[in-house]
Amino acid sequence: MRIVSLASGSGGNATVVEHGGSAILVDCGVPCCALKDCAIDAVLITHSHIDHVKGLKALLRRRDIPVYANFMTAEVLASEYGVPESAFVCFENGQPFDVGAFAVRAFSIPHDTSDPVGYLVRAEDVTYFHGTDIGTPLDSIGLKLAEADVATLESNHDPEMLRTSGRPPCLIQRIAGPRGHLANDQACDLVRRFASPRLKRLALAHISRDCNSPHLAFDAMRATLLEMGRSDVVLKTLSQDGAVEI
Ligand SMILES: [Zn+2]
Ligand SMILES: [Zn+2]
Repeated sequence: MRIVSLASGSGGNATVVEHGGSAILVDCGVPCCALKDCAIDAVLITHSHIDHVKGLKALLRRRDIPVYANFMTAEVLASEYGVPESAFVCFENGQPFDVGAFAVRAFSIPHDTSDPVGYLVRAEDVTYFHGTDIGTPLDSIGLKLAEADVATLESNHDPEMLRTSGRPPCLIQRIAGPRGHLANDQACDLVRRFASPRLKRLALAHISRDCNSPHLAFDAMRATLLEMGRSDVVLKTLSQDGAVEI
């Protein structure tokens, strides 16, 4: 399995997962031109926020590929973004489905939009966990992380940098709230409690430009992994501005 993050952060999110001649795109929050070299068979959508879907309509104008989303997300994408209803293949959270070479399962996450999800994507004996835009490090999410060999996990903000960011109090509350985004220490908490010996590669995602830094997120997770005796885990930070191979 080959996993490449094309972009990660509040400016746009998209990840390509390839295996055995199949390729899926998890979220389409990048311009269509960023995907020109990618052969993509299907798109999976985590939730309807603009940074995850803004390139979707343009992509579908150029390519006739299915969009997998749960019913509520599909409804919002059709009504608010004008994505054609005929493009959707709707699933129920928790019900496994196949997309090309992949077996996929969506799981609920707490975030401030209608029915957001993360994904477990499996091909042969490798399982990839994709979890961003998570307000609370719930055990139910950790149990999915425990199944992963490779994971993309949100490490959005440093609480102190968020508090002193000068952002409007309501926005700070939203980001730090139970349906906002994971702080660095919350991401570490999930990994500490749930990462299994299977986990070999971990990519930190959706890192805030203003309220975090790749170094802070990386150092916090590296310290957690060392405490766990897991210096073997390959740790990376994802970027808003360039592709990163996970
Ligand atoms: Zn987002
Ligand atoms: Zn979001």
